Amino acid sequence: MNFPQTISRRHTKTISIGDIKIGSEYPIIIQSMCNTKTQDTKSTLNQIHDLIQAGCEIVRLAVPDLESANALKIITKEVKIPIIADIHFDYKLAIESIKNGVQGLRLNPGNIGSSQKIKKVIEYAKDYNTPIRIGVNSGSIAKHILSKYGVSAEGIVESALENVRILEDNDFDQIKISVKASSVPLTIAAYRLIAQKTQYPLHLGVTESGTEFIGTIKSSIGIGSLLAEGIGDTIRVSLTDDPVREVLVAKEILKALGHKKGLQIISCPTCGRTNIPLIELAKQVEDRLKPYENKEITVAVMGCEVNGPGEAKEADFGIAGGKEEGLIFKKGVVVKKVPADKLVDCLMEEIFRK
Ligand code: SF4
Repeated sequence: MNFPQTISRRHTKTISIGDIKIGSEYPIIIQSMCNTKTQDTKSTLNQIHDLIQAGCEIVRLAVPDLESANALKIITKEVKIPIIADIHFDYKLAIESIKNGVQGLRLNPGNIGSSQKIKKVIEYAKDYNTPIRIGVNSGSIAKHILSKYGVSAEGIVESALENVRILEDNDFDQIKISVKASSVPLTIAAYRLIAQKTQYPLHLGVTESGTEFIGTIKSSIGIGSLLAEGIGDTIRVSLTDDPVREVLVAKEILKALGHKKGLQIISCPTCGRTNIPLIELAKQVEDRLKPYENKEITVAVMGCEVNGPGEAKEADFGIAGGKEEGLIFKKGVVVKKVPADKLVDCLMEEIFRK
């Protein structure tokens, strides 16, 4: 299926995280974060493997102590995608993480302490080509900014830019920025504002967005609205769930906006004209095609032959239910009539016909 519209991206600088280029000239990248204990290398490596299988391209790990920083030595050797160390407060952990092979840091220099400590981290980041993501969210606005702006887009952005200036004052510009909030409107407002004020790539997310159902909705609206405006270069869907779910949702957000190619399944909502177990059939089609996520086809599962093929004429393949039988169609043209219980098998035959 051809995408009728392409979204033009906000122009950004390009930075490199390991082998991956980040910025408006490059594809939007999916990130996630492990929820294992980083020092438990076995569990962490297993989870990273699952995330990669699901389509994760960059993974972030919490580094709250030296044990975690040391574990990075093993993890970064084993893993092919870039690892980002998430650091708060302790500059030594940042330096250890860089020395142990991480490809990026998530760190706010404003949290690190003296300018000497900041300089030390930046020195290592420069030597090892390690970019830094500054991440300010609605809960971590610097106190003096909070008293001036309150919890607002201006406050989040000013706090982020203050951190950016610390890096820039030390001649460091390999920067990515995030300005998340748990409120969707605040997230959107903050990203819109910072998009006007800098050229650095932006990492999108709605923070603490909730459990799978609510979190998927909030993230899709927040991340999706911004991407639709051309804002955003990497994304993370935050869910209180298995991080693999985050990656699956992120992938679908990108597909829905035409930023990622691959399998698209469309299905009708069913109505009084439906005479086949369409909800069940749609699930079967989804399950059978799961291993072919990257196949660039659109498959339609429609309830009736009156409207089905016509409404889904953009689809490459599809089925439409009748009374006792159903139709297989290709690009809106009916190619076969088969009994209802054979519809899914016949659809697969058509899709995989050599
Ligand atoms: Fe109803 Fe047919 Fe439309 Fe499905 S395709 S919602 S069955 S009219």
